[in-house]
Amino acid sequence: MRTPIIAGNWKMNKNPKETAEFVAGIKGKLPETTKVEAVIGAPAVDLQTLLDAAKGTNLHIASENNYFEDNGAFTGETSPKVLAEMGVNYGIIGHSERRGYFHETDEDINKKAHALFDNGLTPIICCGETLETRKAGKVNEWVSGQVTAALKGLSAKQVASLVIAYEPIWAIGTGETASPAQAQEVCHLIRETVAKLYDQTTAENVRIQYGGSMKPANVKELMSQPDIDGGLVGGASLQPDSFLELVHYQD
Ligand code: PGA
Repeated sequence: MRTPIIAGNWKMNKNPKETAEFVAGIKGKLPETTKVEAVIGAPAVDLQTLLDAAKGTNLHIASENNYFEDNGAFTGETSPKVLAEMGVNYGIIGHSERRGYFHETDEDINKKAHALFDNGLTPIICCGETLETRKAGKVNEWVSGQVTAALKGLSAKQVASLVIAYEPIWAIGTGETASPAQAQEVCHLIRETVAKLYDQTTAENVRIQYGGSMKPANVKELMSQPDIDGGLVGGASLQPDSFLELVHYQD
């Protein structure tokens, strides 16, 4: 019922030449979009190259940040309107690196979600706890709080169409993956949160990804969990072979 979605999150790791080389390496090898949706998220400086290279393939493209105004005097920011005009499909927002290093608040993330929808893009909204929060036994209230704040004012139809990525911060780039049971528990909680805020149908339609050291060796087990519909993948999305293994996890 929910199409699995595996999204690379390249972060600040590739230049345009490497971007084009990556797409050449996966061309013609991606699954049908109805089987698994393959997405690559890249910083604004690489998006045009990515879009050009991906023309005619099954690859969907995500930005990794956007501002909440369409245009104006906001030096250095990325317009969601321009992203839409370029042909970008998704916008990753609220990643823990943006919350942490760039001081993005829940309110900013909510505004960014609205701005993406207003321009016809689909948000991939990230949430997740620190190790400290986990040790304090506060994962549920933390994550449901982040989700509730990010979705504020969105319609049920919008929420049903978006993607939520659960990324425990202690598992990002550390090689330490949440166990499938730990990941499932929080992804289930996220679905329950959506059901409480909206309704059961909306909750059953929203796609929930796990992120944090997902790789070819653990993708199958994570994806077999009932509430995990995809992955948001950093390190293991940088090489074509590894990305292809991830999107072909069912084969
Ligand atoms: P990782 O990053 O796969 O390298 O842990 C995931 C992410 O930050 O989205």
